[in-house]
Amino acid sequence: MPQSLAHRHDPLANPVYQLEILHRPTEHAAPSFDARLEQCGLPPLQAGSVEILQLNLGKLCNQVCHHCHVDAGPDRREIMTRETLEHCLETVARHKISTVDLTGGAPEMNPDFRWFVRELRTLGANVIDRCNLTILMAPGFMDLPEFLAGQQVAIVASLPCYLEDNCDAQRGSGVFQSSIKALRRLNELGYGKCPELPLTLVYNPVGPSLPPSQVKLEAAYRKELQSRFGIEFTQLFTITNMPISRFLEDLLLSGHHEEYMHTLVDAFNPGAVAGLMCRNTLSVDWRGHLYDCDFNQMLDMPVDPCQPQHIRDFSSALSQRPIVTGPHCFGCTAGAGSGCQGATASAD
Ligand code: SF4
Ligand code: SF4
Repeated sequence: MPQSLAHRHDPLANPVYQLEILHRPTEHAAPSFDARLEQCGLPPLQAGSVEILQLNLGKLCNQVCHHCHVDAGPDRREIMTRETLEHCLETVARHKISTVDLTGGAPEMNPDFRWFVRELRTLGANVIDRCNLTILMAPGFMDLPEFLAGQQVAIVASLPCYLEDNCDAQRGSGVFQSSIKALRRLNELGYGKCPELPLTLVYNPVGPSLPPSQVKLEAAYRKELQSRFGIEFTQLFTITNMPISRFLEDLLLSGHHEEYMHTLVDAFNPGAVAGLMCRNTLSVDWRGHLYDCDFNQMLDMPVDPCQPQHIRDFSSALSQRPIVTGPHCFGCTAGAGSGCQGATASAD
């Protein structure tokens, strides 16, 4: 099984080094992300109220996908502790945050996952589980689908292609078949069929290109998954690969790094800016530190220094905070735009 960059002691495991690489090609293609906004007559990015708290429950994962921007894997040991989870619960309760988005790694591998989900649901929060599907078929986790359905947790599941070879090339041998089994189990429980059990699938390109139209691809997924496997789902999100961590490694090894950065910069779409996820989401890492988004978290770019830096110090001042940007932000504004809720605009 492949290993994480961190486990290999690869220099790319260092976010400072990643940022240095990201700056190189964009310096020639555009002055900076902020300058590009200004050229289009747009103000600097600023957050609105925090509607979604996105928690990275740890870097531990049962998979080692080639494109992973978290550098997650079975060899990672970083896990959010119960103490930090309690700080998150206090924040959700006190500030009436409506949605908590659980990600990782495989968030379900956090030993406190089920306790935490129950507590969140008791508080009345909507809970999203960003699920890699194969964890639902792994020893020790096979009763998870029933648990998630019982708690009415929304599932957002990665399935980068409805073709086995493409999926396994990105996520590892056998992942596709295991994912199909998991999707069938979720369908049996009502996921993707009942409105209270939404099942969202996530597509991201296998190579260094932008995703196709979300609407058209959703129609193709629906047709293919239904006719080949009898699988139903609620909606499809297309997400652009971020040039971070292991996808950045792939770009560098294949010699496509500069070309990909230029693709992102050239495809800048001002219409995608209003829907950027950093405007209504706050990201929390496994230690409780705060970021404008998951990507900033991976690049170790915390929220503005004048803001609280840890979830235990959360305050309503975080709404209206200036957002910290970098060259990777072009990944969110290219074409139809991209974020954890899929495309953010029309590409036309
Ligand atoms: S992409 Fe998701 S499933 Fe794959 S290694 Fe990363 S966290 Fe795990
Ligand atoms: S990477 Fe995307 S979501 Fe994060 S701060 Fe930049 S534009 Fe916002």
